[in-house]
Amino acid sequence: MIKNSRLYISSLAFILLALLVIFAYLYFLKSTKEDFIHNNYEKQALTLRASLKNMIEAKQKSTLGLAITLATHDKELVKYINKKEIPASYYDDLITQYSENTFYKNIWIQVIDTKGISLYRSWSLNHGDDLSKIRADIRSALKIKKPQMSISTGAFNLSLKSIAPIFSDGKFMGLVEVISHFDSITKLLAQEGVQSIVVADEYFKKQLKHPWNKTFIANYYVSNKMADKKLIEYLSRHNMQDYFNNSYKIENGYLITSYLITDHHNPVGAYIMFEKLKDISSENRDDFILKWLIFGFIVVTFIAIVGNIGIYYVLQRQKKYYRSIINTSENMIITNNKESMTDVNNAFFHYFKKYKTLRSFLQENSCICEFFVQEDGYIQKEMNGVNWVDYLLQHQGENNKIKMDIDGEIFYFLASASIISQKPLQNAIILSDITEQEIYKHELEERSVTDPLTGVKNRRFYESRIQYEISRACRYDIPLSIIMFDIDHFKQVNDIHGHDVGDKVLIEYTELISEILRDSDTLCRIGGEEFVIIAPHTTKIDAYKLAEKIRKIVEKSKHIVPITMSFGVTEHENDEDKDSMFKRADNALYEAKKSGRNKVVLG
Ligand code: GH3
Ligand code: MG
Ligand code: MG
Repeated sequence: MIKNSRLYISSLAFILLALLVIFAYLYFLKSTKEDFIHNNYEKQALTLRASLKNMIEAKQKSTLGLAITLATHDKELVKYINKKEIPASYYDDLITQYSENTFYKNIWIQVIDTKGISLYRSWSLNHGDDLSKIRADIRSALKIKKPQMSISTGAFNLSLKSIAPIFSDGKFMGLVEVISHFDSITKLLAQEGVQSIVVADEYFKKQLKHPWNKTFIANYYVSNKMADKKLIEYLSRHNMQDYFNNSYKIENGYLITSYLITDHHNPVGAYIMFEKLKDISSENRDDFILKWLIFGFIVVTFIAIVGNIGIYYVLQRQKKYYRSIINTSENMIITNNKESMTDVNNAFFHYFKKYKTLRSFLQENSCICEFFVQEDGYIQKEMNGVNWVDYLLQHQGENNKIKMDIDGEIFYFLASASIISQKPLQNAIILSDITEQEIYKHELEERSVTDPLTGVKNRRFYESRIQYEISRACRYDIPLSIIMFDIDHFKQVNDIHGHDVGDKVLIEYTELISEILRDSDTLCRIGGEEFVIIAPHTTKIDAYKLAEKIRKIVEKSKHIVPITMSFGVTEHENDEDKDSMFKRADNALYEAKKSGRNKVVLG
């Protein structure tokens, strides 16, 4: 009901705070989610690289195992080395067995003599060439004469090489080399849903005279034949350097990460792995998001509930506060809209005692205006065609008074109205009780125009009333007469019977005359024992008759002391002022006195 800027400010502050919290939370959720996704991908990339490393190591170690076996448990091989002639099909059976029974689909075996000359190649009839000239790993193996592993690029391919020394009766006979490719690893990865492309460093391009696979990406030789064609195409359109890093990339719907293939810490190529994003477990991520969303929802709901309770509490407290203020007011406070009264304070029920609630009041009355007394000078239900509330709104600050008759008791109020809300329209009407002042004022007014001895109106009243009646008579063209009279030889009454008796005579006879008069006639004492009767709507003939009637009653009365009276009667003439009319009546009275008293003379 009462506008409160503090409440607005605090609600606004709360809404802003809530928005801030929500935005901060969303930002936190977004960044946390991004962090989480990043960590998830980072972890997945690390896992891929770690398992690839293990696979490569496992493959190297098992091929090394085969090389050691071939080098140490084959007496026949030593014989052939001595002869410097190894049959072309020497390892065919072993290779076939491996291909059929292990996950090594392709292995290649080479035998090298103590000088580094190739004695045998399982994949070619060519031999007799000096490998020590072109391969550092061979030179190292010939020197240290111990099993060793390497990854290197030769004329044919990027391959995994395991070399084991051959000894016969303690004598170094040469080397057995088992060569394998990355294809089996590619296949194992593919079974896990990871596509891969193995490339040799661009540095080796020149060296690859007889590439096993014909595919290149720029200058990078693709070592695995099984590599996905579309991914090769994809990489061809990009800069390969960008993919050789230890982190990951999210592109083309894939998580892309690479593993650098090194040989004794020298980079020789790279393994680029592609895992479809949709295949990466999002279980944890979804759980994570759900968890945070639920948490966020609970926090926001909590804030909303606390906020609402807070606002409700503040509103209730304020409502109570304002209600207690308006209830302590002794003034009647009423709110209304266009249709009806909407609220009242406790003071309302001090006046309308019959009712306990506004509702019960409204069941019997439509408006307090039903109690207004229609009297000049007081607000009416309609004021010049305007509803009383609208009139009060238009005449704010004016001395607007309402006179009410509530169950026979008269109350006076000073009324004011103001608009407290435009939409919806609400007015507040305040009625302050001025009954005591008003009654006292009326008394004073009455006293100032009343003769204290006789109780009839005095000269002052006469002066103002005759003015009013003259203007009315002129406006409406109606007759107006006055009857002036004076007690005959009243001095003698005083002299003979005393002043007190004289007073009593004045009192009794005015009472007697008042009874004869009509309500519209006014008896005024204008001097010691001189009176005037104002008789509106009365011609001089009728006034004469009235004066004559009074004269006779007084003459006959013989009340207290017998007295008589003389009368001067006159009627108001056109455009005549009060003094001229008075004068004429006075002259007529003088005439009556002069011509013997106890008479009526028409002026
Ligand atoms: P007349 O009018 O017939 O010529 O004679 P009168 O005796 O009435 O003459 P006048 O008007 O001169 O005297 C009026 C007297 O009325 C004077 C005064 O003693 C008396 N009187 C005036 N006022 C009062 C009053 O209030 N009480 C009493 N007891 N006497 C009053
Ligand atoms: Mg007299
Ligand atoms: Mg006199």
